[in-house]
Amino acid sequence: MELSFPIVEIFDSLQGEGARVGTACRFVRFAGCNLACDFCDTDYKEREQVGINDLVKRMKGAPAKNIVITGGEPTIHFYLSKFVWRLRQRGYFVALETNGANKVKFKVDWLTVSPKNGLFMQQCGDEMKVLWMRGIDSTKEGFLHYLRRCSNFKYYFVQPIERNGKVEKIDEIIKFVKENSEWRVSVQMHKVLKIR
Ligand code: SF4
Repeated sequence: MELSFPIVEIFDSLQGEGARVGTACRFVRFAGCNLACDFCDTDYKEREQVGINDLVKRMKGAPAKNIVITGGEPTIHFYLSKFVWRLRQRGYFVALETNGANKVKFKVDWLTVSPKNGLFMQQCGDEMKVLWMRGIDSTKEGFLHYLRRCSNFKYYFVQPIERNGKVEKIDEIIKFVKENSEWRVSVQMHKVLKIR
C-alpha cells in the first residue's frame, strides 16, 4: 500500500522567521502534533490524506526548489524520512521545522528546532527558535540559558508571540538579547507585513 500523509495545506510564500527570513519557499503543513501548547494557532481539522507519489509531484514548481516541511509536528509521521529523501534526490533544498520532542534521524538541508518545554531531544541543528512564552516569566531566562548550554546550533533566536496583530513583550526580549548577545531577535515578518 502506498504511503500517505495527512496534509493541512501546501502554499508558496516567504520564510517569515529565523535566519532564512525572506526566502521564497513552498510550505507543506503536516497535520497533528505531539504537544498541546495553549497559544497554538494551527488548525488541523481540515486535512487531506495525500499519497507520497502525489505529494512529491505537488512540489514541482516550488520557488527555487525550496521546501519547508512544517506542522503541527512533522516528525510524528513515521515515514517522513522517505518523503524528504525523495525530495533531496530530486535536488530540492528541504528545511524541516520541529519542536524537537523527537530526534530527527535523517538528513535535511536546514533544521529549525523550536522547543516548547524542557523535553527536547533534538539538541543540534541549524537554528533554535524559542518563543518568549507566557506563564514562565520567572524562569524564562534560566530556560533559555539551559537550552543554550545543552545544545549546538548555528543560530539562536528568541521570538515574541504575536496575538491579534500585537507583538507581546518585545521590550523584555530586546533587553534579554542586549544582555545575551549569542541570542538574536526573530519577528514573524509575514505577520508584520500581512503576507501569506
Ligand atoms: S508544538 Fe507548535 S504545532 Fe504543536 S501544539 Fe505547540 S504551537 Fe502547536
